[in-house]
Amino acid sequence: MPENQIYDVIIIGAGPSGYTAAVYTGRAQLKTLVIEGWQPGGQLTTTTVIENFPGFPEGIDGKQLMQNMRAQAQRFEAEFASVNVTKVDFSKQPFRVYADKTEYQGKSVIICMGARPRTLGLESEKKLWAKGVSTCATCDGFFFRGKTVAVIGGGDSAMEEGNFLTKFAEKVYIIHRSGQFRASKIMLDRAKANPKIEMMTDTTVEEVLGDAKVTGLKLKNVKTGAISELPLDGMFLAIGHVPATDLFKGQIELDALGFINHAVNNMTSTEGVFAAGDCVDHCYRQAITAAGMGCQASIDATRWLAARK
Ligand code: NDP
Repeated sequence: MPENQIYDVIIIGAGPSGYTAAVYTGRAQLKTLVIEGWQPGGQLTTTTVIENFPGFPEGIDGKQLMQNMRAQAQRFEAEFASVNVTKVDFSKQPFRVYADKTEYQGKSVIICMGARPRTLGLESEKKLWAKGVSTCATCDGFFFRGKTVAVIGGGDSAMEEGNFLTKFAEKVYIIHRSGQFRASKIMLDRAKANPKIEMMTDTTVEEVLGDAKVTGLKLKNVKTGAISELPLDGMFLAIGHVPATDLFKGQIELDALGFINHAVNNMTSTEGVFAAGDCVDHCYRQAITAAGMGCQASIDATRWLAARK
């Protein structure tokens, strides 16, 4: 990157929100840089087929979808840097974004860093990732028609995913590590009333069983210490998300869980810094909603830049 070049927009993050933002700012003829990190494409590159992104009636491979979005942004002359951001300085214009030993400067920034689903940290969970272990019922529930699955967690997400999965699965266990639920009463009651759902409390997952695909869970009752095996076909994790926002602490306002606070126009607490996608979104976390938010933030950034001229 040429030294002392000032971009109109620096987009940090390269999932659906980042690439969509780049398509829009590139097409608006703004000088755009996407800082992609070392693993461009975000969460979608770790899944297989995406069946709920409109426009692909047969579904599309997650990696391919991201490559397509990147190529589309490139067509509108967005530039890319495959480096990890290590520091930002939003205290003055132009904003500074540091990666390795390079300093990038931008008049505006769109943060699209995403969030990663929290995992249990088990080796067996890693081994069977996308082979029966999933973090998204909306994406993968369809593949478990007539099967038995477990949802891990005791919050609203676990209840929502559990209920949703009963559309497909024959039986859904909701496995929670304690007897106290974080889920709201209405969501908990709905799950408890669902005849296909069975609650297992005070229970932790010790191991995901199976070689080529999930065949069961090894469980521990934390009150009695008893170990048991539960045969099933899939495990859905719903134990919260960790937004990738550590980098921005002290530069923009974050909420108690680390998600970025932003206004209606997608602007963060720092004027000229926008945010989109899973790093601001507690609720929907879909590729299409992230892409939509990337579009919104890029239009907001474009308008903000035009108003400053
Ligand atoms: P929460 O943080 O509310 O709940 C996470 C759950 O996972 C807790 O029960 C927690 O257990 C458990 N957990 C965390 N870490 C582990 C671990 N390592 N092993 C086992 N269990 C673990 O996350 P949610 O995603 O459920 O909800 C996030 C936010 O989104 C909330 O504000 C929620 O209300 C909202 N939401 C709203 C929905 C709606 O209104 N339709 C739908 C989904 C989410 P413990 O309690 O023991 O810590």
